[in-house]
Amino acid sequence: MNGLDPRAPLVLDTRELGRRPGSQREVSRTVPAPADLGIEVLSVPEGAPVELDLRLEAVMEGVLVTGTASAVLEGECARCLEPIHDELEVTFQELFVYDDIRDSADAEEDDEVSMLQDDLVDLEPLLRDAVVLALPFQPLCQDDCPGLCPECGVRLIDEPDHAHEAPIDPRWAALTKLEQDPTD
Ligand SMILES: [Zn+2]
Ligand SMILES: [Zn+2]
Repeated sequence: MNGLDPRAPLVLDTRELGRRPGSQREVSRTVPAPADLGIEVLSVPEGAPVELDLRLEAVMEGVLVTGTASAVLEGECARCLEPIHDELEVTFQELFVYDDIRDSADAEEDDEVSMLQDDLVDLEPLLRDAVVLALPFQPLCQDDCPGLCPECGVRLIDEPDHAHEAPIDPRWAALTKLEQDPTD
């Protein structure tokens, strides 16, 4: 296991909290978003501020971390490809088990358990999971986005009455083009 960097923005030092069950500490910090925080079509831009409000609580087995994260989102509508600017707020909770009281055989059996490493908590996997879970599978600019016209690609939101009376006959299309652009 690689050591965590205590100065990394998403690494928390729990030493001040102590290990007496019940002791609590509130931590608020703003950190730059790591790369690829989100999904391909909707994510927190790398380096954008992520506001974290965290509560650390010592319990018998380790440290319980409860928090909220808020940040801006950038992406594009899955139907009409219009840029999306949105805000995200997620909550998360995770128990980080003391690495020195848990025997290694147990730890190997269960990869799902988050561990403290030298009293440090790595928030990044937690934040990533919370953000990805909160995002829609197909982001939309608005819930009832009608998308693009399948024939000409116009954004139907901009032109609600948009319709084609009949498929354009290729011969007429050629004529129309001539009329519109006589120099051609
Ligand atoms: Zn849209
Ligand atoms: Zn059309």
